[in-house]
Parts: sequence; structure tokens; C-alpha cells
Amino acid sequence: MMMNYPLTLAQILEHARHIHGSKRVTTLLPDQTFHSYTYTALYERVKRLANALTQSDVIQPGDRVGTYASNTYQHLELYYAIPGIGAVLHPLNVRLTAVQLARIVQEAGDKIIFVDGVYAEQFEALREKIGCEQVVHLNPSAMPPDVAYEHLLSEAEPAYSWDIPDENWAMGLCYTSGTQGEPRGVLYTHRSMFLHTLAVNQADVFGLTEADVVMPLVPMFHAMAWGLPYAAMFAGADIVLPGAKPLCLADLIAETGVTVAAGVPTIWAKVYPELSERRQDISTLRRLIVGGEAMPPTLIEAYEKNLGVEVCHAWGMTEMSPTGTFSKLREAHQNLSDAEKWRIKAKQGRPIPGVELRLAAETSNGFAKLPWNGEVVGELQVRSPWTASRYYNIQPTTEHFTPDGWLRTGDVATIDVEGYMQIVDRAKALIRSGGESISSVALETSLLKHPSVHEAAVIGVPDEKWGERPLAVVVLTPVDAVSNRTDTDLAITLKQHLVPEFPKFWIPDRFIVVDEIPKTSVGKFDKQALRKQLLSAETKEKLS
Ligand code: ADP
Repeated sequence: MMMNYPLTLAQILEHARHIHGSKRVTTLLPDQTFHSYTYTALYERVKRLANALTQSDVIQPGDRVGTYASNTYQHLELYYAIPGIGAVLHPLNVRLTAVQLARIVQEAGDKIIFVDGVYAEQFEALREKIGCEQVVHLNPSAMPPDVAYEHLLSEAEPAYSWDIPDENWAMGLCYTSGTQGEPRGVLYTHRSMFLHTLAVNQADVFGLTEADVVMPLVPMFHAMAWGLPYAAMFAGADIVLPGAKPLCLADLIAETGVTVAAGVPTIWAKVYPELSERRQDISTLRRLIVGGEAMPPTLIEAYEKNLGVEVCHAWGMTEMSPTGTFSKLREAHQNLSDAEKWRIKAKQGRPIPGVELRLAAETSNGFAKLPWNGEVVGELQVRSPWTASRYYNIQPTTEHFTPDGWLRTGDVATIDVEGYMQIVDRAKALIRSGGESISSVALETSLLKHPSVHEAAVIGVPDEKWGERPLAVVVLTPVDAVSNRTDTDLAITLKQHLVPEFPKFWIPDRFIVVDEIPKTSVGKFDKQALRKQLLSAETKEKLS
């Protein structure tokens, strides 16, 4: 029999310090200068922080500790110190409203909140509503009764022994980003996060090595920055943390030699012009990890062909720590035509080792398993050692978990014979017209192939005859936005563009041009807000 060796985050930090102690963590500060130190220096500060937290008497093992912070070295220290003392790291989404945050902080029962200097003013405005017992400011100028983080560290002892009761102890709490409905909490354990770290670090998944320089652009409050703070340090990679607002990503990549960067598609769409017109040398950048939403195939192609950067879709959920699938071409695909390669790359990828996917159809007595042939569309269900079995503080229901132990992802998808999964839509975003389903994602993907379209979102709007009809909302490219083409011309052009690809009833009846599509707190298209905006604009029009 083997040793009963606990799988905890302390093992990750200890390994990083002993084996990769000279590796660096570099943070872009608000004044656009750098803070940079080694894993060894980070380790020493994490131990001091652990001491300070334990001695504060406010925190007991199992207590939740909030962070309201950007991607910085201090936040990274909290990522290790809080779980290291047996408490629960709870990164708060800085873009939520006061009402949402108050609910979340109260539900979590956060004992202390660590607040980043860049968000201090914003936090003060929410503070009364949130009602947290104690606040620690990550900038040095805190006024009593608040505490300054650096002061706390300087007063603390440097020696500390990790205090994690066992591998199944909770280490972190993240709330879903709330794209469909209110955010729900997911409680991770040391074991689940350790196993997720091992899984994503495999060569055919994130594939990080000690030669990499890894930059999570994904905020550290979004699904634990997709596990990168743990994965990068276990691999021994250098880490670049972009703070709250990097002014120029091309400069940041060029100056720090980033090799792998991770973020949602809207970020990559936004910075593409900057990267493609750059003067800086960004040749170190080898891979983008993209998730949270489907990356338009045209953008994948642009990055790969024009910038020589490999783009890999990662699909996952906060409920899955978050990684479920990863998309890379197989060896057998290397001789395919470019068009075939882009078609495969547009999929969300194959389940990573340790994750099981199931394509299911609900029947009167449970779920029927659907075939993996790339065509049949079904409800996507998942199970793995790093998938939630329930939500925090909510009794599990069959809306989210099946009686035989699978998570119902809320996504509908196809899976092909090779195991590549493709998201067809979120179940709630599927448009039901005359009893048939229309995929908003497929229409958006096609619209984005049109040279005049910069952004596209398709939503279902109520229709007396058909139940629902698709409505396309587009943002035009800057050149087209100033052209004097009429809306009718544009609608005709875009309809003609869609017709060869889709059945007639899929073609949206209406096309609306807007300046910007609203985004959620983590940069996804916010279709709920878009629907509200359009409805209120139409009501206003009718009234006037
Ligand atoms: P929320 O559901 O509130 O947005 P998450 O940020 O955890 O919370 O999002 C998980 C969902 O995001 C998935 O169920 C899926 O709909 C979508 N998603 C995640 N990654 C991808 C991807 N690579 N492609 C398409 N959709 C994705």
C-alpha cells in the first residue's frame, strides 16, 4: 500500500520554493513600473502573512477571508497564505454591484477583506452595505481601525508550520460570474485544486514548463484565475501579473517575455489591433489560453496566421475549478487543410484526463446517453475530482445535479468521435422558434466572418407566431461604422451572408447596429443586459 500523502496547496508552494526558488513573479504596478521578486521572497512573505493571520485571532480554521484585488504579487501571497492556515480564500468580483457583493459577502461570512489600493475608493463606497468585520489595505496608507498589509507583514514572525487539517479541507470559495442569473458559490478543497493543478499541467493541456513566462489576464476573482497561480508555480514558470489596468499589453509582453497568456475572447479581440500593429517584439508569445466564452474562429485564425501565436480553447466552469476540456490539434490533424484545422480549433476541445463528459437527453425516467458523432446535440454533463457536487449554502437540486452524480453544465453541445466537444449554446440562450432550436453561437460565429462586423450577439425576442425569433445585434468595424450605408442595406447584406449556411427559419428578421455590446463582470457578452437595453429603447420609441 502507498503512503497516505495529503494533496494540499502547501505542497505546491514548498516544491516551488525548494526546486524553483530563483523563479520570478513580476507585477505591473498602477504607475506602469514593475515590482519583481523571486519565489523564495514570495515564500518568506507568505509565511509571515500566515503568522499574522493566525495571530490576529479573528480567523479560525475554516473561516472565509475575502480579497477585493487585482492581479498582483500581494494577491498571489494571499492565494497561498489563506489556505495555508486552513482558512478559505474568497476572491471577490470587483465588478459586481454593491447589492450583489453584500449578498455574497454575507452568505460567505467573510471575516476579513483584503482590499487593493486601486479599488480602495470603490470599496469605501460599498463598505457600509457589505458590512465586513475587518479590512486590511494592500497599500501602506491604511488608517485605523483598518490595517495596512505591509505593516502586518513587517511585524510578523517569519517561521510558520502549515496548518491544513486534511486534503479534503476547503481552500477556496469562488462565485460563478452570473451570466445567467445570480452568482452561486463553489467551495474547492485542497485535494480538488491539487488534482486540477496536476491535470492542467500535462503536456497536452496548458503544458506549462519551467521555461515559460505565464501571464493570467483573467482576473484572480474569476474561477481562481483558471488555476494558473497554482499551475504556474508547480511548473516553476515565471509569472507576470498585469495589475488592474495594463496600458499597453504589447509593451508588457515584450518587456517581460510572456510565453503563455490566458484571458476571455473579448480581451483578445480588443488587443488584436494593438498586437498586430505593434513595433514591439512579441515573438516570445507562443500560446493563448482562451475560455469563458467561444473565441470566434476568425480571431483564432488571425492570431495563428498573422501573429504566429497558437490559440487553445479551454472550456470550463467555476463549478469545475474550472477546466474541463482543452483544444489542441492532434498529430493526425497536421496534414489537414487550413480550413479543416480552423474548424477543429473552433471547438472547445477534448476532455482533459480526469474529466468525464456525457451528452444526455432528459427522458421520463432519467437521462439517455447520446452518441458522440459530432452532430447529435445534447445536454452536457460532467464529473471529475475537481467538479462541485453542490453549491455553497444551497441544497442541491436536480436542476443542477443528476441523481447519479453528474453536474448539469447548463450548456448544450455536440461531441465528435475523437472526443472534441463543441458548445452549441447555453441551454438558456438557445432560441426556440416554432418548436425548433436555433443556436445563437452559430449565428454569431458566422456574422463575425463578415468583414463589416466587429462584434455580434444574437438573442431571442418574443414573437406571437413563432414563440421566439432571433434578433442580431452587431457592432460594425470602425470603417463601416462611418460609411453612409442604410440599416436596410446592412440587413440585406448580412442576411445574404447567412443564407448559404443556415436553414431559412434561422435567419434573424432584424439586425440592429449598436456602438457596443454590454459585457458582464468578467468580459463576456451580457445578453440579459442587452435584452433590457433594447426593450427599454423600444418602449421609449413607442412612447415618443
Ligand atoms: P457563468 O456561467 O456565470 O458565466 P462561469 O464564468 O463559470 O460562470 O462560466 C461557465 C460557462 O461559460 C460555461 O458553462 C460555458 O457556457 C461558458 N464557457 C466557458 N468556457 C467556454 C469556451 N471555451 N467556449 C464557450 N463557452 C465557454
